[in-house]
Amino acid sequence: MADKNQPISGNDLARFSGPNTFMRLPSANDLAGLDVAVLGIPMDIGTSWRSGTRFGPKEVRAESAMLRPYNLQTGAAPFDSLQVADIGDLAINTFSLSQSLCIIKDSYDAILKYDVVPMAIGGDHSITLPILRAIAKRHGPVALVHIDAHADVNDEMFGERETHGTVFRRAYEEGLINPAKTYQIGLRGTGYSAEDFSEAAGWGFQHFPAHELWHKPLANLGAEIRRDIGDIPTYISYDIDSLDPAYAPGTGTPEIGGLTTPQALELIRSLKGLNIVGCDLVEVSPPYDTTGNTALTGANLLYEMLCVLPGVTYR
Ligand code: MN
Ligand code: MN
Repeated sequence: MADKNQPISGNDLARFSGPNTFMRLPSANDLAGLDVAVLGIPMDIGTSWRSGTRFGPKEVRAESAMLRPYNLQTGAAPFDSLQVADIGDLAINTFSLSQSLCIIKDSYDAILKYDVVPMAIGGDHSITLPILRAIAKRHGPVALVHIDAHADVNDEMFGERETHGTVFRRAYEEGLINPAKTYQIGLRGTGYSAEDFSEAAGWGFQHFPAHELWHKPLANLGAEIRRDIGDIPTYISYDIDSLDPAYAPGTGTPEIGGLTTPQALELIRSLKGLNIVGCDLVEVSPPYDTTGNTALTGANLLYEMLCVLPGVTYR
């Protein structure tokens, strides 16, 4: 469709040239007329172990140059019906986490004045709290599909209440999410106590630990979640460390025994039909994966999320 933005084709301009935008889409400063705004939040000062996610947006965009517009497996043709552009990076303050989170909230308030679905490339997971504050202000408490090795429900870390490990406790406390429609998928690893996950279960969070998903297709799980949510506004937060480090080593807090790349694809594809109002892909730390595979996988998962947004046409 000539009237919508299209990624630059690899047959028109070599994939290693052109702008470093997501899928080499046009960049945009004005959000008027956009259906989807891809943005980068290059930040790693909310992380507790390895850093490096400040380089996530740049590398995910670079690897996204491999992506072609049509989804051969699902038939999705997102650029036929949606106007998508890359609106660049948020100007966070790399010397202040608290100020950066305010910048993210204010930026999302401005973005959400438009009828647009923001897709964020992180950044560590702390970016999701200010995003959810703005999203809930605009849409009310949302259903949350949270794919992650970690529940990110600590109360505090070193006395700090806003970090990459405290996001979803704050979101619950602040009423940003509907706890009965919150799904945490891929949880695993060692913990501090036996209650690490059970307290959040008491709030209503539904947990799908990785070991219960091993060796299983995830299309049915996605379909169940989709039916359970119905049509209420939904946010997807995709932490790349939900994948096994064999698939996604470039991340800050890796845990063995994770999801596979095919499971990630099945899960996202089966969420088609949800009223998705925003999503993010976080915790890609390129310095820990010199092959680029983690950023490549992140770019593909963002594309798959784009393919299940409301209004996408299928061929
Ligand atoms: Mn996380
Ligand atoms: Mn995680």
